[in-house]
Amino acid sequence: ALTAGIVGLPNVGKSTLFNAITQAGAEAANYPFATIDPNVGMVEVPDERLNKLTALVNPKKTVPTTFEFTDIAGIVKGASKGEGLGNQFLSHIRQVDAICQVVRCFVDENITHVSGKVDPIDDIEIINLELILADLETVNKRYQRVEKLAKQKDKEALVEFDILSKLKSGLEEEKPVRAIEFSDEQQKIVKGLHLLTSKPMLYVANVGEDEVVEPENNPNVQKVKEYAENEGAEVIVICARIEEEIAELDQEEKEMFLEELGIAESGLDKLIKASYSLLGLATYFTAGEQEVRAWTFRKGIKAPQAAGIIHTDFERGFIRAETVSYDDLVEAGSMVQAREKGKVRLEGKEYIVKDGDVIHFRFNV
Ligand code: GDP
Repeated sequence: ALTAGIVGLPNVGKSTLFNAITQAGAEAANYPFATIDPNVGMVEVPDERLNKLTALVNPKKTVPTTFEFTDIAGIVKGASKGEGLGNQFLSHIRQVDAICQVVRCFVDENITHVSGKVDPIDDIEIINLELILADLETVNKRYQRVEKLAKQKDKEALVEFDILSKLKSGLEEEKPVRAIEFSDEQQKIVKGLHLLTSKPMLYVANVGEDEVVEPENNPNVQKVKEYAENEGAEVIVICARIEEEIAELDQEEKEMFLEELGIAESGLDKLIKASYSLLGLATYFTAGEQEVRAWTFRKGIKAPQAAGIIHTDFERGFIRAETVSYDDLVEAGSMVQAREKGKVRLEGKEYIVKDGDVIHFRFNV
């Protein structure tokens, strides 16, 4: 499964947020084969459509899809040079698919800040620079090796050398890899280098308890938003402490609490959705009398691969996918009516699955 890593300087609220994530955790009984790693928190992906489908189909059971966050503690200034947990921490980032950077925007004199003052842009730049320096080291090593081969006019080496030169000068200008432009062909090679700053990133602005309703009033949030906008990155505002409280409530209590606070959606739910789409993930549904269930897939995959997410046999024996879009199904009011209206399509092997598709796979055993 794809995972988003939570990073940030010490004392910005990472553990508080991660605690909220594990508390809110997905109901283990629904996901018997999930791996248990203390640094991984599995949450259910909130999706209104699942509630509607449940009301429509009235199944015995409803199962949301899940998303995983990985807690990555220990980044400090100098990490790329081995300070703190240094390289260990960097190798953990290598294993995640996207990065959620928690930025301290709350002001609280009782909680020390590593730099002695709350300055979100300073904090962001410290972390981003560590990641850039780590990438520069990776690129430099590779550069030296490939340079020799390129001098011998090795064709592949020449292509890679071009890319490495561009990476090197970009990183030296303190640009993250995701901001350096490459052709599609080159992107494939860049991807193979597994660089930290090529991963998509979003910022999590952690505000004080009394600021969640109007976070715009917090000047630190404004600064983070401006910074992120420049990079084309998204900002999610949360109050980690409130999320920790919310995580202990059941669904009904949670809705009441949010209403009292005057916010429509919890910060954690916003963060889950944003991370999900940052990774290019989408959801299709299966809807039978036994179970209505949401499944995560990577945008762009074809029907047999989507079937394989449920079971490898479904992919191997794939015949076709009876598909109706969520909107068409809801408009028709039932599967039977959707079929009568001709809204249920028979899709084959080349069909590219779309977000919100409700699918019944036909397959040979
Ligand atoms: P980490 O080092 O980044 O994991 O930070 P922690 O989650 O341990 O938080 C450091 C301190 O900041 C703890 O005392 C938290 O209770 C406090 N803290 C975290 N989030 C908030 C917040 O939203 N408001 C306030 N006032 N304190 C917070």
